[in-house]
Formats: sequence, C-alpha cells, structure tokens
Amino acid sequence: VKEHGHDGWQFFSETLQEQAKQRLTIINGLRTAIERQELSALFQPIVTAETGRIAGAELLLRWQSASGPVSPAVFIPVAEMTGAIVPIGLWVFREACRAEAEWRHRWGETAPYVSVNVSARQLNEASLADEFAAILLESGADPTRLLLEITETSLMADVETNLRILRRLADLGLRVAVDDFGTGYSSLAQLTRLPVNVLKIDRAFVDGIEKSEESRTIIRAVIGIGRSLDLKLVAEGVETAGQHRELCTYGCDMIQGYYFHRPLDEKTFAEVFEREHTQ
Ligand code: C2E
Ligand code: CA
Ligand code: CA
Ligand code: CA
Repeated sequence: VKEHGHDGWQFFSETLQEQAKQRLTIINGLRTAIERQELSALFQPIVTAETGRIAGAELLLRWQSASGPVSPAVFIPVAEMTGAIVPIGLWVFREACRAEAEWRHRWGETAPYVSVNVSARQLNEASLADEFAAILLESGADPTRLLLEITETSLMADVETNLRILRRLADLGLRVAVDDFGTGYSSLAQLTRLPVNVLKIDRAFVDGIEKSEESRTIIRAVIGIGRSLDLKLVAEGVETAGQHRELCTYGCDMIQGYYFHRPLDEKTFAEVFEREHTQ
C-alpha cells in the first residue's frame, strides 16, 4: 500500500467505500420502494413496421428513490441479487394487467397489447404461475394480450426448469417473447421446445444496420429463424429512418425505438394513441 503513496491509496479506498455505500443505499431503498410508492411505469409504444401505427407497449419500470431517480440498468441487477425483484416483479405485472384491462375497456379490440419484463430470478419462484393467475383474475386482464419478455440468456441458462414454468404460464394464456435475442446462445433445438411467440432483436444489432455487414447478416439470420419457427419479430432500439427501412425490407413485423416513440407516461401514451386512432 505504501508504494502507491498515501494520497493514491486514500483515493482508491474512498472510491470503493463510496461504491459500497451507494449499493447499500440501493439495497435498503429497494426494500421499501413499493410501500413508499416510489415505483412507476412508463409505456414505450411498439409499432407495426409497415404502417408505423401503435400495436403494443412495453412497460418500463422507473424508480424515484428518496435520493433521486435511479436507472433500471442500475437497480434491476441489484434487485435480482437481493431478491427484491420478486415483489417488484409482481407489482410490475399487476400494473401491466391493470393497463391491459383499462385500455381494452376504453379502446376495444384495437387496444395495444402490453409487454412486460420478467427476470430469471422470478422464474425460479415456485409460486410465480399461481401469483400471476391470481393477478390475472382480479384485474380482468386478457392473458393473450400480455407478452412476457424473458432474456435469451436467462431462458437458456436452465432450459429444463424454464420449460416447465413456461408451459404453466402458457397454459394461463400468456404469451412469451425472447428478449435481447442474438446476445445469448440459443440452440435452435432448444428454442423449438420452448413455448415462445416472439423474438426481440437486440438493439446492438439494430445499431449496426447502417454500419456493419455483420449486424445485417445477424439480423437477416434472426428474422429467418423467426419466420421458420412461425414467431413474430420485434426490433428494438430503432433510432433512424434508415434502420426502419432496412428492417422492413428484411420482413421484420414490429418496431420499438426512439425513431417512433420514447417511453411515455401513461397519460401521454393514451393521448398519442387516441390522436393516432382518430385520424
Ligand atoms: P430492455 O428490456 O432491453 O428494454 C429496452 C431498453 O431500451 C429500455 O431502457 C428503453 O428505454 C431503451 N430504448 C428503447 N428504445 C430505444 C432507442 O431507440 N435507443 C436507445 N438507446 N434505447 C432505447 P430502460 O427503460 O432504461 O430499461 C433498461 C433495462 O432495465 C431493460 O432493458 C430491462 O432489462 C430492465 N427493466 C426495465 N423495466 C423492467 C421491469 O419492469 N422488470 C425487469 N425485470 N427489468 C426491467
Ligand atoms: Ca424488454
Ligand atoms: Ca430488450
Ligand atoms: Ca436490452
């Protein structure tokens, strides 16, 4: 320690201490986030590629902690580690069900479907399917209009276990999407065994469409896989007209990204949807 000099060592230890402190603040804060009503949901429109019209929405969680907003990229991994994601995930699913029922009541069959993220840690809870079933019942949501997004990495981490859980969720009528597809390692044989309805092409490949032949090749291959397995394809992170155009020529079904819409609070989402549907 001495060789690094007093100042250098002190700086190093303070940084680590600072990091540990921040982490503790997040861990503690997450425990009471629900009861303090610090969680909220944004809805990012998902549009039909051909028409650009809203077909669905992904629920994206936001946390306004006592010490300010914390990004999901920061608090979700911590919540997964501590297990706080289990009650938070139920809160999220309840919000998704409430939105689905309300929107369908208001807009009928043209109402958007609701996509909701489910983490691997939630899938490990033996009670998950029962809790989802109870929430579906009390909310009156239509399970076939709810899409559970599970990352490719968590799906493929334990295919046997997930197969059993996904079958139970599918029996409830819920739909399943493979999120961040292309970043993990799916074997096609395993993919065909899982009750999956949608592939979401990861933003990293969409990002490369106009820059790298490799990204284009991967996207075309993923769309080919999706087609042959009779799955719907959603591209995420679409930011430019060029990306949208390419994805259309490849035959991608749906688009999500800042080029069309950012994540919106529910009131704004409803306004945007109604404006679009009264034109
Ligand atoms: P994700 O599931 O891949 O969600 C998509 C992320 O990309 C969102 O970030 C969204 O705001 C962002 N995004 C959408 N369009 C664009 C675009 O055109 N360009 C760029 N640069 N970004 C775009 P967000 O909301 O910060 O969420 C980050 C991650 O946190 C999510 O990635 C998901 O893994 C996790 N997350 C968010 N909400 C939940 C939740 O309710 N439960 C769980 N388990 N995880 C969640
Ligand atoms: Ca997602
Ligand atoms: Ca994603
Ligand atoms: Ca992602």
